[in-house]
Amino acid sequence: MDVLEHPRPWVPRAGDRWIVSAGRTHDCAWRRVSRYAPVVSHVLEPASSGRAKCRGCGQPITRGELRFGERLPNPFADGEMTLWFHPRCAAFKRPEPLLEVFGETAETVPDREALEGAARTSLAHRRLPRIDGGERSPSGQAKCRSCKAPIAKGVWRIRLTYFEEGRFTAGGFVHLDCSRAYFEHAELLERVLCFSPDLGAEERTELERACRTAPATPPAPPPSELGA
Ligand SMILES: [Zn+2]
Ligand SMILES: [Zn+2]
Repeated sequence: MDVLEHPRPWVPRAGDRWIVSAGRTHDCAWRRVSRYAPVVSHVLEPASSGRAKCRGCGQPITRGELRFGERLPNPFADGEMTLWFHPRCAAFKRPEPLLEVFGETAETVPDREALEGAARTSLAHRRLPRIDGGERSPSGQAKCRSCKAPIAKGVWRIRLTYFEEGRFTAGGFVHLDCSRAYFEHAELLERVLCFSPDLGAEERTELERACRTAPATPPAPPPSELGA
């Protein structure tokens, strides 16, 4: 489509952005993604209702609570869509757009420094945003994405998720004992607990203990698997 077919002239306003494509910003990029309007900035605002659920943890975002909205071109229709998050969940799972909005917003953000720190840590360790909570393995069927060995029933494991094309997709598991090596980071507990809202108090305590005692390097595979 040629830009001259544009139904109304596009005049840049404060807050509008070019879509960044492959590190460059130019008019071809925004035309390809959205025909009629440039993508507007992500948002940080008090929730106007209590209906939206956080895409990170799946829990409701309370009315009046600060929420982060990631704006993306809608893959199914013209226009765009907004994915809502608790700011902390976004710092863990969507660090890049959250840091973008921090650079643009005048909104007062509680715990801003901590949130920025968490987001920068997520950016520095490319696998950290995949953490999607912890659970005891309900069966012995899944294999660990780190050591490739089966995860025995009842053993703690960490769920993985991948963000692609505007949504999160489940992406397997790693042993809790393999997690420090896999994520290349030692401080995982807060992230794991944040995305484990369904665990009871007792399970959370157990998970905390297991996280604290997880080895820095994964345990050696049994001799029969060496060389496999
Ligand atoms: Zn959340
Ligand atoms: Zn493993």
